[in-house]
Amino acid sequence: MAMLAGATALGDTYVVKSGDSLDRIARRHGTTVSALVQANGMKNPDQISVGQKLILPPGKAGAPSGGGSTSYKVEPGDTLGSIASDHGVSVSALVKANKLDDPDRLTPGQTLQIPTGASPSSAPGVRHPLPPDVRRALDGIRVTPGKWRYIVIHHSATKNGSAKSMDLYHRQRRHMENGLAYHFVIGNGRGMRDGEIAIGNRWKRQIKGGHLASTALNEKSIGICLVGNFDTSPPTSQQMRNLYALVEYLEGRARIAPSSVKLHREINTKPTRCPGRHFPSQALRQHVS
Ligand SMILES: [Zn+2]
Repeated sequence: MAMLAGATALGDTYVVKSGDSLDRIARRHGTTVSALVQANGMKNPDQISVGQKLILPPGKAGAPSGGGSTSYKVEPGDTLGSIASDHGVSVSALVKANKLDDPDRLTPGQTLQIPTGASPSSAPGVRHPLPPDVRRALDGIRVTPGKWRYIVIHHSATKNGSAKSMDLYHRQRRHMENGLAYHFVIGNGRGMRDGEIAIGNRWKRQIKGGHLASTALNEKSIGICLVGNFDTSPPTSQQMRNLYALVEYLEGRARIAPSSVKLHREINTKPTRCPGRHFPSQALRQHVS
């Protein structure tokens, strides 16, 4: 069958995964919902099913807009994080440019395309960039594939606090040998800088949290605690901005669907008000899905 050069070149295909929405797929591949609908002749864009194959419109997938790419041959000992920071790009940009299925599995000798010409913080699809130092630190941590299913948001229910003070409390008073029960803490300017993201040892070591009343849920839930008592006042805007950025990053890196981002009270097996009645749950939904 003859094809007109250029005019009908088939784009790449994408297999729909659990938690995907058309909007999300479009954003991840640098295209639009309407282009996807058109490329796939879809009648009902709201109905996609897991395992369904979609044609990605050609021309836009791959390298970030406005930039080209250079290639790099993977050497023994390289991680995606080390390659990304060596080249000043984000891990997610590398994953996207190379359509990697398992970002933690690289083979020496494998050739990667390194996107150029776009700064990492303006990478397409990233709506809430993380502070660069935090992103670099997170990129350097190997994430256990398939381990994490939920992201759970808490408040400390105290006016002040820090990852350090909570670590001490969880070790000494709660007798938790792994200390800090959360994977991340976001400060409110009272004990930590306003919006500061602390990466806990449980994330660095990829071990279960101690923030939920169920061992099974702790095994697969990433815990993020915002310092503050949101029963009396809301979180700071800087805390929320960095929460959005962290959640967006973790959704991409640990393959977590936006519908699996939960407030503590939405997932706990015992009743709780956490993260407090002034926590802006609507805003969270709008920013991370
Ligand atoms: Zn909680």
